[in-house]
Amino acid sequence: MSRNYDVVMIGAGIVGAACALEFAQAGLNVAIIERNTVASGATGAAMGHIVVMDDSPAQLALTKYSQALWSDLAPVLPDSVEYYRPGTIWIASDGEEMAEVRRKHATFSANGISGEILDSQALAEAEPNLRRPFAGALLVANDAVLHPQPAAEYMIAEAQKLGAQVITGDAVSSASQGRVILENREVLDAGAIVNAAGSLSPDISHGIPVRKRKGHLMLTEIYPGYARHQLVELGYLKSAHGSEADSVAFNVQPRLSGHLLVGSSRQYGSEDPRLDQYILDAMMERAAFFMPGLLSLKKIRSWTGFRAATPDKLPLIGPSEDPTVLLATGHEGLGITTSLATARLLADYLLHRPSAIPIEPYLPARITTLQEAQ
Ligand SMILES: Cc1cc2nc3c(=O)[nH]c(=O)nc-3n(C[C@H](O)[C@H](O)[C@H](O)COP(=O)(O)OP(=O)(O)OC[C@H]3O[C@@H](n4cnc5c(N)ncnc54)[C@H](O)[C@@H]3O)c2cc1C
Repeated sequence: MSRNYDVVMIGAGIVGAACALEFAQAGLNVAIIERNTVASGATGAAMGHIVVMDDSPAQLALTKYSQALWSDLAPVLPDSVEYYRPGTIWIASDGEEMAEVRRKHATFSANGISGEILDSQALAEAEPNLRRPFAGALLVANDAVLHPQPAAEYMIAEAQKLGAQVITGDAVSSASQGRVILENREVLDAGAIVNAAGSLSPDISHGIPVRKRKGHLMLTEIYPGYARHQLVELGYLKSAHGSEADSVAFNVQPRLSGHLLVGSSRQYGSEDPRLDQYILDAMMERAAFFMPGLLSLKKIRSWTGFRAATPDKLPLIGPSEDPTVLLATGHEGLGITTSLATARLLADYLLHRPSAIPIEPYLPARITTLQEAQ
């Protein structure tokens, strides 16, 4: 006996949750299969910085579009999601990074994103707990922050209200030709299957170029106003987009609750979810260079998560080689930000609706090119 759905989602992280809600709102009959619990993967480990990034025109288009969708959704999000807009301050350490501030500012302005260049004095006034002097910074006021786990739980609950069926504690063992088989041997048939299994998506869609990229975060006690914006070193760009080596970068987020999240790190080649003390030490050293007082703040928890990284730092959104299996994976460090745009683009594709931005740069059809470049 099999059950029939319009769409079966694999994975209830933020991407699966956003897709489930989008499809359910479009009137489709949806099932979501989650091997563990909602947001138990990268989503539950993430910072929740809703940020516009401009590593490539396609990344800029997707992050900007998705940030606007979050802003539209914000009024109905429950308080537990702690959505607010502290803005981002990109800190420049030296003249070279100030040149990058000006380049970024020009790119953002040309794309309708307002930013303000801060000199050394203005930066010190905006963030009194930063070490001084730094060369300056770019303030991007529209960037937001949210708590990813309750955001995913909210979207799953809303999809359920619209009739979506949520199955947790069961893993998908295979998905192809419109058929999903669970590890408990249950069979689900679907017009479309969406692989939103994050860093585990290659277990279902074999051969896709998605690799695990481990990250660490630390959470402090409540220190209201200690940081007023999401603070990121511009060197983060070198780190986030750098090569294979382990890297850390200064990235501090003030949660609405007053807690501070301190990050961040990136490692390829580790499948071990346990904390790496040398990474935590390096993260703290980097954080103290930018904000010396952080050393004396009480840390209450540290954890790790696995991002799903693609070689060109863009997600895979759209049909795989098997046209019944759509991919919604490979969001690396931007999946909280880009989840809503991913869901909208996939629904537009499936329902033959026009899209606000072209889906082409994210289509898995580029996989062969990516594999050749690897
Ligand atoms: C330390 C860290 C900080 C981050 N900070 C940010 C940030 O500030 N802003 C931002 O935009 N992004 C951030 N990210 C990235 C973001 O967390 C991810 O891009 C995003 O969570 C991906 O969501 P997802 O739903 O694709 O994957 P996941 O959240 O990993 O969800 C995949 C789900 O699929 C399930 N699953 C896997 N295999 C199966 C199977 N066979 N059957 C059934 N279920 C299965 C898993 O259990 C999991 O729940 C960060 C990531 C990390 C690690």
